[in-house]
Amino acid sequence: MSEPAGRFWSDDLATLSPYVPGEQPKIDDLVKLNTNENPFPPSPCVIEAIREAADAGLRLYPDPSSQALREAIADYHGVTGAQVFVGNGSDEVLGFLFRALFQRGRPIVFPDITYSFYPVYCRLFGIEPQIVPLDDELAVDVEAMCAVDPASVGGVILPNPNAPTGRLLAIDQVERLAAHFCDCAVVIDEAYVDFGGESAVGLVDSYPNLLVTQTLSKSRSLAGLRVGFAIGDSGLIEGLTRVKDSFNSYPVDRLASAGAIAAFADEAYFRETRDAVVSMREQLTADLEARGFEVLPSAANFVLARHASRAGAELAAGLRERRVIVRHFDRPRIGDHLRITIGNESQNAALLTALDEVL
Ligand code: PMP
Repeated sequence: MSEPAGRFWSDDLATLSPYVPGEQPKIDDLVKLNTNENPFPPSPCVIEAIREAADAGLRLYPDPSSQALREAIADYHGVTGAQVFVGNGSDEVLGFLFRALFQRGRPIVFPDITYSFYPVYCRLFGIEPQIVPLDDELAVDVEAMCAVDPASVGGVILPNPNAPTGRLLAIDQVERLAAHFCDCAVVIDEAYVDFGGESAVGLVDSYPNLLVTQTLSKSRSLAGLRVGFAIGDSGLIEGLTRVKDSFNSYPVDRLASAGAIAAFADEAYFRETRDAVVSMREQLTADLEARGFEVLPSAANFVLARHASRAGAELAAGLRERRVIVRHFDRPRIGDHLRITIGNESQNAALLTALDEVL
């Protein structure tokens, strides 16, 4: 006789729903503009480095401290290796920091709307969210966040640029948050920063409570490799490392580590592909506006767009029938929007052709 699922689960787990992955199409069949991947392949140097690493050492365990990768990231960002933590994608790093840095028994402050994993991690770790609505322009409301009594909260987290709006906070606003909440960890999730933001990494030496997370999934075209990292004061990094050592002592495998190091070494390729995505974002924004969309100014590799007269769900379904996948958001705070990843030229053209049929 089989037991009912969940009989032997911890109490926390009852509040979590299973992860339901989004549509995972065969990439050849569909124009996939729903998960903010980069339309360009990774640098050829990355592929070469992974090949070499596969030949050289898969028999061996990876370095548990990921020292070579941490040093490469530290050199790139002008910090020390002791200020860098790496993980399997920034989602894993976020999981570690919710566990390691956010105080229990006090709420965590984040904006609404924002990255959907924050409320999930709150539930997983039994942390209360304290949600601060976006302002009327759908930007993160720093004024309202700073109206929260810093002594009452256990941590702060927000993406910059925010997701799924793409809206950017100026660096002085980020600094204001780090200073206001100076007695708890303030995390700036910079998954999309390379597409138009100013990184807060330059502030970490001044604010020992400030942790910046980044990923190689977006601007380095390496979502499949799973490498993300955090930069902050060595005290914060040590806290993360304690949790990592207990949960995942080998965070980054040999191939991922070699590929990530090579990605940081090929600056010319990074700039060229990043600039191409940014210019296609501006072009796509104009093309959508010409078709009756209102498009939020984006500093990321996606845009959030609302049509003046047509429902987002209907448009998303019409696009899907034409093999183009985008994300539909209909949330009280932002209303009815499509979030569209910036594709390559032919993907963007396919999107516009499909839209012209649907509209
Ligand atoms: N933060 C934000 C805001 C994101 O949108 C994403 C990607 N969905 C991540 C973090 C995680 O990215 P990854 O785990 O691929 O590094």
